[in-house]
Amino acid sequence: MENNLSMAQTIQPWELLSPDSTWRGWWQPPIEGIPALPVLAARGRRDGPTVLVTGAVHGDEYEGPAAIHALFNNLDLSELAGRVIGLPVVNVAAWQAHARTSPVDGIDLNRVFPGTDDAGAEPSRQLARAVFEHFVRPCDVLIDLHSGGARLVHLPMVGWYAGDAEAERLARRFGEGLMPWLIPDVPGVLSSEAHQAGKIAIGAEYGGGARLDPGGVAAYTAGLRRLLALLAGEEPEPAAPDTRRPIAGSYQTGEQGGLFVANVNLGDHVTPATVLGQLYNLLGESVGGVMAERAGIVAALAHRALLGPGDRVAYIG
Ligand SMILES: [Zn+2]
Repeated sequence: MENNLSMAQTIQPWELLSPDSTWRGWWQPPIEGIPALPVLAARGRRDGPTVLVTGAVHGDEYEGPAAIHALFNNLDLSELAGRVIGLPVVNVAAWQAHARTSPVDGIDLNRVFPGTDDAGAEPSRQLARAVFEHFVRPCDVLIDLHSGGARLVHLPMVGWYAGDAEAERLARRFGEGLMPWLIPDVPGVLSSEAHQAGKIAIGAEYGGGARLDPGGVAAYTAGLRRLLALLAGEEPEPAAPDTRRPIAGSYQTGEQGGLFVANVNLGDHVTPATVLGQLYNLLGESVGGVMAERAGIVAALAHRALLGPGDRVAYIG
């Protein structure tokens, strides 16, 4: 508690940025076992909103970090209004372990926001609080960039939470190559909690399989630039608004494990009668088909084919 209070009272370098300047450095949260986070910050010549861009909240997702690096490596401050803060790797411990979740305590950081300042809590819960208080609370807009991670592959999609028209407007301008997505409210998710805290919250998914898709990096980078230009009032309105139906659904998990042989591809339209794939045991015997839980588009599919009970099989929406 004392640590967090003293941390909160310290003015951080990125908060002292003068107009037309940038800063890169490390921020060490005072939490045992949590490595320092890389912070990239820029302030434009004009006033404007503070935009927070986050990557690698899950440690095995690479397009977001690379896009944040690319954004800051080629940022024209004369076109930037306000500030943009980049946290390319929020979950450094998980990143170092090539893992979705933190090796420090096994927790999925993206399920424990806004965290706790209880010094006896698991480090990931304290990290969630520190990130939320230092970076999310001061921002106006959060853009949280994800990928499918080692276990999943996602359709490119960018979304908002129900009821936030400004977030929907921005998300629909992020890039035509990404499907619009109505993100389900899941407690503890960074963007969901930011939305609940009154922020304009946008989330995105692209690819996965622990691969870095250069096309995903390019799409994310272009999307970030476009949203910053929109927020600076420098992006013209589109000739025709994007009226595509958003993907709206959730992950479905399997009750049993096995070798998953998919019958469907990303982007396929399915119904509750569709068999997404079959699970096999080591003798080659089918141990059951995995039925789609709802109608919609296959927006994510298992990449790591050997599934355990309760593993995510697909995202249908
Ligand atoms: Zn993720």
